[in-house]
Amino acid sequence: MTTTQNRPPAAGGADGAGALPTEAGTVSYQESRQVAEASREADWAKPSFGKELFLGRLRLDLIDPWPEPDPVRHAKAEEFIKKLGAYVRTEIDGDRIEAENRIPDEVFHGLARLGAFGMKIDEKYGGLGLTNLDYGRALMLVGSVNPAVGALLSAHQSIGVPQPLKLFGTEEQKKRYLPRLAAGEVSAFLLTEPDVGSDPARLGTIAEPVEGGYKLNGVKLWATNGTVATLLVVMARVPASDGRRGGITAFVVEGDSPGITIERRNQFVGLRGLENSVTRFHDVFVPADQVIGGEGRGLKIALTTLNTGRLSLPAMCVGAGKWCLNVAREWSAARVQWGRPIGEHEAIATKLSFMAATTYGMETMLDLCCMLADDDRNDIRIEAALVKLYASEMSWKIADELVQIRGGRGYETAASLAARGERPVPTEQILRDLRINRIFEGSTEIMHLLIAREAVDAHLSVAGDIIDPAAGLSRKAKAGAKASAFYARWLPTLAVGKGQSPSAFGEYGRLAHHLRYVERASRKLARSTFYGMSRWQGKMERKEAFLGRIVDIGAELFAMAAVCVRANAEKRIRPEGMELADLFCRQARVRAEALFTALWENTDSVDTKAAKRILEGRYAWLEEGVIPPAGDQPWVSGWQPGPSTAEDVRRRVPPAV
Ligand SMILES: Cc1cc2nc3c(=O)[nH]c(=O)nc-3n(C[C@H](O)[C@H](O)[C@H](O)COP(=O)(O)OP(=O)(O)OC[C@H]3O[C@@H](n4cnc5c(N)ncnc54)[C@H](O)[C@@H]3O)c2cc1C
Repeated sequence: MTTTQNRPPAAGGADGAGALPTEAGTVSYQESRQVAEASREADWAKPSFGKELFLGRLRLDLIDPWPEPDPVRHAKAEEFIKKLGAYVRTEIDGDRIEAENRIPDEVFHGLARLGAFGMKIDEKYGGLGLTNLDYGRALMLVGSVNPAVGALLSAHQSIGVPQPLKLFGTEEQKKRYLPRLAAGEVSAFLLTEPDVGSDPARLGTIAEPVEGGYKLNGVKLWATNGTVATLLVVMARVPASDGRRGGITAFVVEGDSPGITIERRNQFVGLRGLENSVTRFHDVFVPADQVIGGEGRGLKIALTTLNTGRLSLPAMCVGAGKWCLNVAREWSAARVQWGRPIGEHEAIATKLSFMAATTYGMETMLDLCCMLADDDRNDIRIEAALVKLYASEMSWKIADELVQIRGGRGYETAASLAARGERPVPTEQILRDLRINRIFEGSTEIMHLLIAREAVDAHLSVAGDIIDPAAGLSRKAKAGAKASAFYARWLPTLAVGKGQSPSAFGEYGRLAHHLRYVERASRKLARSTFYGMSRWQGKMERKEAFLGRIVDIGAELFAMAAVCVRANAEKRIRPEGMELADLFCRQARVRAEALFTALWENTDSVDTKAAKRILEGRYAWLEEGVIPPAGDQPWVSGWQPGPSTAEDVRRRVPPAV
């Protein structure tokens, strides 16, 4: 595959992303890795429950006492959520959005009137200043009526202009843009390009420095809200030059600046109301004061923004879990086959139990992360990433089980059910709408790598040069000495722990044995990571299946610890939470044990070798006997810089009257 866009010249960028080799196809694995590495936040200023867990230390003191929301802010948010609930229940017609592939103008107006576009914007800039917890609750509510409306609000304020400005904007930028956004103008985040998905090292949109600012040229793909947004965050590469560090940079761009064309509105498996664009920039002038956070800081800004920004997507996954559980419960009690309600047949009963326990687990992880972020007492970057990964995977399984429980009706559209006089439950739609969550805002595979990188950070910071194939002998020797001292201290701590004492964690009552398991398992997890590092050394980062399992075990353990602490804290007001926590822990432990076994008993190596042969076409005969998809177009479309030749399909939402 080759691409045809103009490329900036090759040169070393200050943040590792300063310049791109002349052909995108030649960006090496090492270069992509360097860019990802340079965009990481390297420091850990606050404690992290997740990081400690991967190091074999169950630091329950970081999550117990269970955090409490600020009562004044929470009460204020409650009023808003009540109004929002009434509005979405009566005014948003999910079926209509699905049928027309479009969110009506009135919905934009109604949400703006309520202040929903300013949920995450501070009150001093005209927003509601909701906490992460309340913002998540609001998204869950909206998303349960129509996930595309949830995605509109979430893309607008979790990755769109408000969040990066809040974290990195100047006071002047905040005053200029945030009140507009809080009042209902829509924003979008534009990073992806036809040739840039999970690998920002290939970014080809150029911001060329000119008198007073920059000139942007490039094409951005799949920008959610891109067809309606009036303010954009655009990631573009400033070429490095004498005295200029350059690098990938974040800009606030006015959506109707001359030279911007919305070339397409994209359509997907689900989220039919999504206003998602292909956006072309041709000689678009952006004033210098619209850079966010400084040149070359774009990816770091994007990643830091996502630390809490990532919490909105799992909020909608939790909402989906609740929605599915509700349908599954009512339907399984009502539908009788073979002499009993189907919920009483064991095969369906186990699904119901999985749905309830997992919804409780996901909600607990999310609430905990939100409240820790709101308190600002912990670093939640690992936990938020774990919740995104876990909730997107688990809610998909829940929705799939719901389709199965609903039988043929699970596969039938809501409109068809209604036409036959049955309750129009859009089960197939929730499956379609949820699928993307495993792909965007960090695909599952990329989340595994990102979390694994943080999980092994302690090892890398002491042993990094030993396992770095590029490090010379003297660096390796120095690192060897440092690592020996570290491991001599650390390894013995992994051999014994509180989880081995039968009375430990007694204050958690019937949940104590689950916490003893988590304590033992977290040490085993750290030992397994260490064995992996010793065995594969520099090749460890390529052992993606192994790392993926390490991360998945960490997610299960984090969730188990969280549900135990929450259920115990709430046991007086909600005693049945103890049952759900127990149920969740029993199921999670079975999953974690299977993952531990698979760390060492698997087909990863043979699979990787087989994949090589598959890619070489050795078994291509196996594909015979079907008609493959037609078309000889390229898999990835290239683009040429220049003015657009496409019709502008921008949608202008008229002002409310
Ligand atoms: C509906 C929708 C909305 C979106 N909204 C936005 C938006 O608002 N703004 C925006 O900028 N982008 C947006 N995107 C883009 C989205 O973030 C990307 O689709 C996502 O980053 C994945 O990139 P890709 O599709 O190019 O997949 P690729 O990067 O081509 O990946 C293909 C597959 O390979 C895997 N893979 C890639 N690299 C590795 C690796 N190193 N190791 C293991 N596996 C790997 C991926 O996980 C995936 O399974 C949206 C996409 C969609 C479909």
